[in-house]
Amino acid sequence: MISLVIASHNPHKIQELQTVLEAQHIACVVPPNTVREFPKHIPETGATLEENAYIKAVAVFHATGQACIADDTGLEVDVLGGAPGVYTARYAGESASYAENRAKLLKALEGVAPEQRTARFRTVICYHDALRISFAEGVCEGRIAQEERGEEGFGYDAVFIPSGYNTTFAEMRPEAKHAVSHRGKALRKLAAMLQAYQSGENDTQV
Ligand code: IMP
Repeated sequence: MISLVIASHNPHKIQELQTVLEAQHIACVVPPNTVREFPKHIPETGATLEENAYIKAVAVFHATGQACIADDTGLEVDVLGGAPGVYTARYAGESASYAENRAKLLKALEGVAPEQRTARFRTVICYHDALRISFAEGVCEGRIAQEERGEEGFGYDAVFIPSGYNTTFAEMRPEAKHAVSHRGKALRKLAAMLQAYQSGENDTQV
């Protein structure tokens, strides 16, 4: 089983990764605070989610020399022309809180009818080891709620209703969210990729 450094300090993400990769004996998840060489600051200067995930994975691989994964997630709201997209984390400003970002989004959608509030979460994961750089993407379609609902999760969970549900992510149990979420889908693709690497298939080298 390979050790995989995670390029994120977000405890929710680390937990999700452990659930998928460790439970299935695919990889042992190494949190960044346990790696001395982990870079202190990685600027997210990419114009796309792919670029940001790639920038982070390259920075972590070069600093640590260990196999790693980095991800970037964006929320794309159709009526806002795909915003906040790559700016999802800093929608209400550079150091905006989750609550400030959600408040700005609800304000931007004031008066917009439910059927026009369509949106999607998109996650791109970049895997980097000594031999390869690979990407896995997961998309979750849904819509933005009229107001915040629920206490679970983080970020925009309290305002995002996945397609086929009437509840927000924040009203769902973590396992139920994980089964349909953008990150869950991307992670399952990553897990399949890593399993293929370990059995020697699908070996495209960089
Ligand atoms: P990151 O690139 O994964 O850090 O995600 C960027 C921003 O998207 C975060 O700061 C969160 O606000 C939001 N986000 C990412 N994943 C989720 C999720 O699963 N639920 C709700 N918000 C999320």
